[in-house]
Amino acid sequence: MDAIDVDVPALDRAHVWHPYASVPPQVPVHQVVRASGVRLTLADGRELVDGMSSWWAAIHGYGHPRLDGALTAQLADMAHVMFGGLTHEPAVQLARTLAEMTGLPKVFLADSGSVAVEVAIKMAFQFTGRHRLLTVRGGYHGDTFGAMAVCDPVNGMHHLFSGALPQHVFAPRPPADHDEAYLAELTETVARHASELAAIIVEPVVQGAGGMHFYHPAHLRRLRELADEHGLLLIADEIATGFGRTGELFGCDHAGIRPDIMCLGKALTGGYLSLAATLCTERVAAGIGTLMHGPTFMGNPLAAAVANASLGLLAERPWREEVARIERGLRAGLAGAAHAPGVKDVRVLGAIGVVETLEPVDVGRVQDTVMRHGVWLRPFGRLIYTMPPYATGDDDLARITAAMTAAVADIGRDA
Ligand SMILES: *Cc1c(COP(=O)(O)O)cnc(C)c1O
Repeated sequence: MDAIDVDVPALDRAHVWHPYASVPPQVPVHQVVRASGVRLTLADGRELVDGMSSWWAAIHGYGHPRLDGALTAQLADMAHVMFGGLTHEPAVQLARTLAEMTGLPKVFLADSGSVAVEVAIKMAFQFTGRHRLLTVRGGYHGDTFGAMAVCDPVNGMHHLFSGALPQHVFAPRPPADHDEAYLAELTETVARHASELAAIIVEPVVQGAGGMHFYHPAHLRRLRELADEHGLLLIADEIATGFGRTGELFGCDHAGIRPDIMCLGKALTGGYLSLAATLCTERVAAGIGTLMHGPTFMGNPLAAAVANASLGLLAERPWREEVARIERGLRAGLAGAAHAPGVKDVRVLGAIGVVETLEPVDVGRVQDTVMRHGVWLRPFGRLIYTMPPYATGDDDLARITAAMTAAVADIGRDA
């Protein structure tokens, strides 16, 4: 029906912005007509194994009956009501579950990850009365202005917006291995700026869109100690790392620490709807009093209902074993790429596999290669990476790593 009337590619080229793209985009976009399990079906009939979980989100895969059912059931009651002066069961259930999972009892339900980061920053500013943050290079915290200001200044293209961004303090990127010299430098940097700082904000253990770097938990532990020592808040942006992706439930669990403020998003609804959360301790909530934020779609019942179903599913599924199995599969499948020409590094943590190349990749060309191998990936910069749904079977996983290896071999022919 629709497919006959609507020339999707033509309308897309004419009207639609895609992420970090021009209109029309320089790299081709592909029309998806169906997503089910771990597979995407394109308009031309091709089926692709999804290696991206739609940017960390679809941890249970697509079209899961439990998540579909939760949405339909909620729709029968209400799709949305305002959250000012009203409340409802899906939102309070979700807040209770998140509080139990994180040990952080006060929950702000935001409508996207970037907004959750804005709220976290606002909490820290309101709590301390100070307006400067310390972060590390190589981070990514979202695309709104407050969040952008703590993204890596180079990857985050700060030069495009210079003058419009607040100037925060950047420590060097935390190294992969436990590094005493780094810890000493961090200690010195925090001490030097402590009197003007409200908070330290970092992604725990895995830096996602800022470069897919993994760092040693000792560095996160030191940031917790330094925050305590100097009376600063620690904000953990777990939007990418939350809900088992790194092999622990949260990235902070690798370091055995609890932040004062935590941001969650991405996999929160199992990839169904945009929803995020900012959580904080009793002490922070009490110190803030009235928090000056309130999005129109705050606590959206449909999103909260599907988040409740997704967290229920996560509690039931053996995600720890699944993520460990994917980690082994990624290590085995990507081992051959480590010494290929043009490759700088191959790294795996939990259900995240990364091939870092020496030169920026040709996104369209890598995409063609992996699609020929029946796989969907979205490389960027010098990174060809995967974070597949937890239910990805061994055969599909092998297909993803074979596609990545083929893309690397193709790059190597030019290297
Ligand atoms: C994706 C991401 C964000 C931003 O979330 P959006 O929902 O895209 O606004 C913030 N922080 C981290 C660590 C992320 O990975």
